Amino acid sequence: MSDTAAAGGIPAGEKTIFGHPRGLYILFFTEMWERFSYYGMRGLLILYLTQHFLFSDERSAVMYGAYTALVYVMTIIGGSLADRYLGQRKAVAYGAILLVMGHGLMAFEGSGSKQFITYEGQDYQVTLEGRGSDAPRFLTSDIGRSQIKFSDGGEEMIIDDPDVVGLPATIATDAFTTRVEKQQLFVNTLYLALALIIAGVGFLKANISTIVGSLYGLGDTRRDSGFTIFYMGINLGSLLSSVTVGIIGIRYGWNWGFGLAGVGMLAGLITFLVFQPWLEGRADPPSFEKLKEKVFGPINVEWACYLTGVGIIVFAMLTVMNAHLVPEWFVGMLGVFVFVFLVGYAVTKLAGEERDRMLAAIYFILAQIPFWALFEQAGSSLTLFTDRFVDRDIFGWHVETPVFQALNAGFIVMFAPLFAWAWVALAKRKMEPSAPVKFAFGVFLAGLGFLSLVGGIAASGAGLTAVYFIFLIYWIHTMGELMLSPVGLSQVTKLAPARAVGMSMGAWFLYSGLSNYLAGVIARTTGAETIGGQLTDVAAAKAGYAEVYTNVGYVAMGVGVVMLLISPIIKKLMHLDTLKGDPSHALAGESQLGQPGAGGIHPPQKEQPAE
Ligand code: GLN
Repeated sequence: MSDTAAAGGIPAGEKTIFGHPRGLYILFFTEMWERFSYYGMRGLLILYLTQHFLFSDERSAVMYGAYTALVYVMTIIGGSLADRYLGQRKAVAYGAILLVMGHGLMAFEGSGSKQFITYEGQDYQVTLEGRGSDAPRFLTSDIGRSQIKFSDGGEEMIIDDPDVVGLPATIATDAFTTRVEKQQLFVNTLYLALALIIAGVGFLKANISTIVGSLYGLGDTRRDSGFTIFYMGINLGSLLSSVTVGIIGIRYGWNWGFGLAGVGMLAGLITFLVFQPWLEGRADPPSFEKLKEKVFGPINVEWACYLTGVGIIVFAMLTVMNAHLVPEWFVGMLGVFVFVFLVGYAVTKLAGEERDRMLAAIYFILAQIPFWALFEQAGSSLTLFTDRFVDRDIFGWHVETPVFQALNAGFIVMFAPLFAWAWVALAKRKMEPSAPVKFAFGVFLAGLGFLSLVGGIAASGAGLTAVYFIFLIYWIHTMGELMLSPVGLSQVTKLAPARAVGMSMGAWFLYSGLSNYLAGVIARTTGAETIGGQLTDVAAAKAGYAEVYTNVGYVAMGVGVVMLLISPIIKKLMHLDTLKGDPSHALAGESQLGQPGAGGIHPPQKEQPAE
């Protein structure tokens, strides 16, 4: 990197690929593989819990919720350790190693839990043949086995070949009891694997985004565009895994699916380790000397950081195991506590423009909440809506509900390049909307998406809703996501002081995780009464969805308008005038923004020894 800079804050002599620093592409591919493993494994997880380990629906949902929240919550610890001691590069490498171990361990499934029915003092084993909700169930007695089904209301078990198993053709479900025998070793392996993934994402996810930020000087107009390209990598990973890991896991066996996710993560780790020199020292530790300082006995600071990771693993394992005991208010309190902590940090530790910028970063961190709370209906209430009320026949092809999950990632991969190009092109003409305006549009679009679906519901009357409206809501939401999510990552790396950028990035993901939780609360309000998984009153259920979607739609659009109105205030807090303009400002700004070499947004510190 050279000291002189060309127009737009771009350093002269920088090694670029397609106009962006070449380091961006290592991060692109590492994060693509990490998300490949994350989303691939996540897609199988709830089915694995309910069908392989035979956890109840409620227990599985709580465990799944705790897992998906904890992966993001722990990024605040991984981010803070990188800021202070490890630097982002080492933190990402460590996180990737934990992830390879975690995903690899998921492939050890054992023979699964066994379920028994006890009827008139006799035990009969129930087994699922294959995987997925279409898999047939069999009952085995001493003399034979028969396929079984349950009556619509779930009141009776129907035995296909009663003579073969020596039982009546139908048995009332309250006439027998059930019990599950688990292989404790493999259940514990599952908990450990989940905990390793939580700690791995905790060390990797926020920090890899921070490194993307470090590739661009403070006045560099390519920053939002660079993040949009990076975001495309995220979604390419998710798209590829939804059509490979998911299908292989269901068709050939859980271990093959999880194993493939692990191999993907290994590819990410290797990519990162081999190409890390391309980062040109930008994500190095703030001080190599400090890392070598002894903390206790032979343990130095660097190893103490890694041991903290082990602490996270133990904590995460205990929490996932006992997720059903964690009260709901605790999650809300966590959000309040982190907010008070962030504002307290800005007010007590920072001053002047640096404080203002941090307050703007906190605004962005919180402003994502309404967006994700609506957007994340995709995996829950919107999936159920699609399953129950949408005509899913497209050109004679009956599309399975989970396939619609690929729409978001597909639209991102299609449209991200357009956005990346548009931000740079608009910036050149000085017409690029400011980040607070982009955010306002993002939240507005989340609401608009739902209102367009409500329009579709109304147009369909009593019949099924046309599938185009599902395409439309996912498309509108994806446009909103591209206005908000990559832009938020970009802004946090730019606005938070260098010495706290990892922590702030961690806070971004923490609230992203908490918004997922809020999404679950909203999804629950659409919940309709079912028996045996089927609706009892279809028309009332449909009206219920339309009502909730109308309400959240209008609220989000209203919030979007308020965000647009206050956007000039936020823009002022960002002090863009001192970030842009003078092309050499990327370097000048640094002296205001933090200690030299504090990881994050600094160019390499030449005086530091290379490892
Ligand atoms: N889909 C994005 C990712 O996986 C955003 C996740 C989030 O912030 N909730 O990185």
